This record gives sequence, structure tokens and C-alpha cells, in this order.
Amino acid sequence: MSDPLLRVEDVHKSYGDEEVLNGISFELDRGDVEVLAGPSGSGKSTLLRCVNRLTEIDSGEIYLDGELVSGPDTDVNELRKQVGMVFQDFNLFLHLTALENITLGLRRVKGVPKAEARDRAMDHLKEVGLADQADSYPAEFSGGQKQRVGIARALAMDPKLMLFDEPTSALDPELVGEVTSVMRDLADEGMTMLVVTHEMGFAREAASRMMFLADGKLVERGPPRQLFESPEQPRTRQFLERLTTMHGGGTP
Ligand code: ADP
Ligand code: MG
Repeated sequence: MSDPLLRVEDVHKSYGDEEVLNGISFELDRGDVEVLAGPSGSGKSTLLRCVNRLTEIDSGEIYLDGELVSGPDTDVNELRKQVGMVFQDFNLFLHLTALENITLGLRRVKGVPKAEARDRAMDHLKEVGLADQADSYPAEFSGGQKQRVGIARALAMDPKLMLFDEPTSALDPELVGEVTSVMRDLADEGMTMLVVTHEMGFAREAASRMMFLADGKLVERGPPRQLFESPEQPRTRQFLERLTTMHGGGTP
């Protein structure tokens, strides 16, 4: 038996008196696509940020591919090469073109030579359907296009795991589909993904599993169909019913 790709073991995190993560444990296997849902303020972003060490945990352990990545000896730069992150607000450099946004990390973080970085960046722009706009600046892009650049940039580091923190929440509704469609392609290609989203259509169609976080605890976890149709916890049912009304259940 090989190790899970990601193992989160009894993670605790407080801000002052507020215990945001109160003993979170779960595992992701290679190729798993897990949707993380929960009310605003329930610690979803904090949990993602703990995985790539943008936030430090108070106690517990996190392993990536069998290696402890939450300890004092972890090479955090190495960890972040292996864990790609996509943010709600894109985090693109506005003074750089789409291509340059992607080659920057390849050259600086990975030390890839210029011509090769360009080729690799172009491949990833193709993957998200933006090869024609490689030389455009973020201001020339729609929100959906910006987010596709953000995804291409994360993919260029060749990560083992991709974290998405509400990647479509800043988008006009008509632009959500182009981003979830890229994410679905990634899932089909076998990328391991942990996705915070309110897009329940994506959860139903692309997620292998879904977990519901509330009050710092994993309230419930299972296949999306099970959580939608026969949740064990009343809180899960209430939350998902509200969300499905607002964001659509998609077609199963
Ligand atoms: P979610 O992403 O589920 O909306 P967050 O993980 O962003 O939730 O936040 C969980 C709780 O932790 C919130 O109450 C938030 O105010 C608090 N929090 C998050 N980051 C910080 C921080 N850097 N300093 C203090 N409190 C924080
Ligand atoms: Mg959040």
C-alpha cells in the first residue's frame, strides 16, 4: 500500500481565543477530487493555507506523499512547488503578460531556462484555452480568463496537488463555466485537487468526495451524491439545501 498523497492528522489552529480548526483529519489519494464546503468563517481557507504553509498550524501533522511537511525541517519553498494554489482574486502580476506571469515562477523558482520556460508556459496556456492571448495583460482579460491564467500558472510548477480557494466566487455568473470546465478537465486527467467552492454542480459532477466543515470540525464527509441525497447530519442537509438553491445543483 502506498501512502496517501495528502494526510492531514488532528490539525488544530486558533487565532487568539477562536479555535478555527479543532482537530481536522482526512486523507486524499492520488487522483482524488475533494470539494470542501462550509459556512463563511468555518476555516476552509485556513485549512488550505495550512497545507502549503501560508499559515502555520498549532498542533497536528500534515504529510504530502509520505513526507512530513508541517515540521520545522520542511523546505517550504520545495513544498510550494509541489502544491499549486489558485485564489479567488487571481493574484496575477498586473504589469506582466499572461505568458510572463507563468514564466516568472518557472524561471525564478524552478530555474528553467528562458526558452524552455516559454514553451512550457505556452503548453499550459493551451491547456486552459488561452494560447492566443499569451501576450495580453491581465487588464485585457475577463475574470474567467484571469482565473484560467492563474490555473495555468499553478500547473506550470508541475504540482502533485492543487488547492483551489473559491476560484469562481469573484466571477460574473456567466463566466463560472469556463473555469469549472478547465477544472473538470484537470480532474479527468487525474490531478489531485482540494477545492473550496459553492458550485454544487461542480461538486456533483467532478468530485470524488466532499466534506462539510463547520465550527472547526469535519461534520461529514462522503461521496457528493450521499451528502446531497442522504446526509447523516442535519447541519449538512441545511447547509447544502441552502447552497443548492443559490448556486444550482447542476445535472447529476
Ligand atoms: P472561510 O474560508 O471558511 O470563510 P477562514 O479560514 O477564512 O474561513 O476564517 C476562519 C476564521 O478565522 C474566521 O473567523 C476568520 O476571521 C479567522 N481568521 C482567518 N485568518 C485570520 C488571521 N490571519 N488572523 C485572525 N483571524 C483570522
Ligand atoms: Mg475562505
